[in-house]
Amino acid sequence: MPLGLYLHVPFCAAICNYCNFNRGLFDPALKDRYVEALAREVRRSADGARADTIFFGGGTPSLLEPAEIARLIAACRESFDLDAGAEVTLEANPETVDADRLAAFREAGVTRVSLGVQSFRDDELARLGRLHGAARARRALADARAAGFDNVSLDLMMWLPQQTPAAWRESVDEAVLLSPDHLSLYLLELYPNAPLRELMQRARWSLAPDDDAAEMYLWAMDRLEAAGYQQYEISNVARPDRQSRHNLKYWQDGAWLGFGCGAHSTRGPDRWRNVASTAEYIARAETGSDLAVERRTRPRDEQLGDALFTGLRLSVGLDLEEIARRYGVDVWDRYGEALTPFAAAGLVIRERNRLRLGRAGMLLANEVMAAFV
Ligand code: SF4
Repeated sequence: MPLGLYLHVPFCAAICNYCNFNRGLFDPALKDRYVEALAREVRRSADGARADTIFFGGGTPSLLEPAEIARLIAACRESFDLDAGAEVTLEANPETVDADRLAAFREAGVTRVSLGVQSFRDDELARLGRLHGAARARRALADARAAGFDNVSLDLMMWLPQQTPAAWRESVDEAVLLSPDHLSLYLLELYPNAPLRELMQRARWSLAPDDDAAEMYLWAMDRLEAAGYQQYEISNVARPDRQSRHNLKYWQDGAWLGFGCGAHSTRGPDRWRNVASTAEYIARAETGSDLAVERRTRPRDEQLGDALFTGLRLSVGLDLEEIARRYGVDVWDRYGEALTPFAAAGLVIRERNRLRLGRAGMLLANEVMAAFV
């Protein structure tokens, strides 16, 4: 499988109160040096290997200028054997784009835009500290279409403070109406010191009960399927041919190189992670020092475990013959006893050479996957 190239852009115009990603406030001078450092890292990793996806993730990559994105794509093209039809994704926040910028990103070589919409309700967006409102999100999608993008994804978040199942259905219905090519649905996860936790306590905002969260998820998947989307991963649905080719590499035991601060890479048994701090990343890149702070070779069993955990997230599930071919392991022989109760409850389904989660199993994926530990 060709490589995926991930480029991390750690800048945001404001920090959302629930965010636990590797990001910081936008600083134009730091950004200039960072883009230079990124291009340098890409070039020094050059080995001419075949690659077919580039993913600008963040942070907010759409804060970069289209010319900077073009420069980074050029660095990838010079350093790797990039397929002519490569998928090049840019994550964008609605408030950072307009018709002109999107047209310029497309001109720069971006083929797919992933919009961080999160909700189509202004009250929910305000509680999350997002800078955009629903109207801006709608316009961003229209602008992306006007710029000629035929591959647009939206992120939506469920189980937000004060969100009722009815409010969630409103956001999903609105998304269906706007007809993106791909949707990612995430459950809000509150890390221990998230400022949103304190805010929720002060404002007495609550989360819907667990049962409602499950209902929100199941309802959305049914609604999206009825609208012509296909669920292909626990949190992702797409129109035919519009699955995220880049993200599939993470779930299909593929290989990818991550560039930028905190970026992870996996290639065969080798896995490494870059230094997380933006300033230190730039300093190391500028002096030509090693950017990785952790580098290891995964033992065979760990590779197999990773392949099982990620592969089971896909709707098609695991290809047991492929696993046997790659790892010399009969999954059912090794884990059948632990999996049997889940199979009896309909949470996992074994069909010929595949093992997959049923939709109810997707809600309890962590419990099912514990069978592999
Ligand atoms: S825009 Fe995204 S990366 Fe930036 S702070 Fe908000 S959630 Fe985090």
